[in-house]
Amino acid sequence: MPRVGFAYHPLFLEHDTGPFHPESPERLTAIVNRLRATGLIDKTWPIEPDPADLSWIETIHEPSYVRSVRETCPAEGIVRLDADTVVSPKSFDAALLAAGAVLSAVDAVMEGRVQRAFCAVRPPGHHALPGRAMGFCLFNNVAIGARYAQRKHGLARVLIVDFDVHHGNGTQAAFYDDPSVLYFSSHQFPHYPGTGRAEERGVGEGTGFTINAPLPPGTRGEDVLRAIDSLLVPAVESFRPEIVLVSAGFDGHIDDPLARFELTDEDYLEITRRIAALAAKQAQGRVISVLEGGYNLSALARSVEAHIQGLAGL
Ligand SMILES: [Zn+2]
Repeated sequence: MPRVGFAYHPLFLEHDTGPFHPESPERLTAIVNRLRATGLIDKTWPIEPDPADLSWIETIHEPSYVRSVRETCPAEGIVRLDADTVVSPKSFDAALLAAGAVLSAVDAVMEGRVQRAFCAVRPPGHHALPGRAMGFCLFNNVAIGARYAQRKHGLARVLIVDFDVHHGNGTQAAFYDDPSVLYFSSHQFPHYPGTGRAEERGVGEGTGFTINAPLPPGTRGEDVLRAIDSLLVPAVESFRPEIVLVSAGFDGHIDDPLARFELTDEDYLEITRRIAALAAKQAQGRVISVLEGGYNLSALARSVEAHIQGLAGL
């Protein structure tokens, strides 16, 4: 059974989004409580996250943007960065630690302490653009992790699989012209944020290294698995990634309030098994999965449990 690391820190709860915001601290509390109640957390290996150095954040984000996030965090209360993205006093610190958790997980996997890892972090990341916060996201945790795997650990090719119900426009933008990062996203379309058409395939040398699977409302698990099998599997066989990062959003769940996919807990287990099998074949089994969305607390907690079971080969 592969060792699965679990990266979490209570500072993630202090990114305060105010009352009635779907991206709430209770999301992580629900996950941790569920993993404790079922005992699954005892089968994982704790990864202690360190805050990401600004130099790693700035491999993806403009220094002026990073500075503005820090300076916008208020001494008290909440400040709005866009229609649905807010910061509170501890948001910058939490965001540095969220990205840092991914880097700590990459280290743990590359040093062989664990084979796979799940990072239960917030704020999420995949909508964050180089110079702009968006869609609950401040820094693009997965994108920063991909650059870190390349520059710190010398890996040439990184696969990012994004099964959040929303298109990861920030991650796509970060690597759109880059043939060293293969980005695959399955998502509801049309839907927020409006990008992710099948014709968006990359640009220049990066052409063909962005793969979008836009899917309609009512999409079920078997449809996502079909997209993985028909679009991702053949691409991965020629790309030969050395590590797999996952933008693990669980807002495609049938009970999720923010979108219209109809995935079940069991579907997340099957999707995870597919990704783990791809990694086992192509990337020495290395998978670092990072929480993105998922807004029905009970469905989120159960789906993360299924996801970790899939990572652990259970
Ligand atoms: Zn989402």
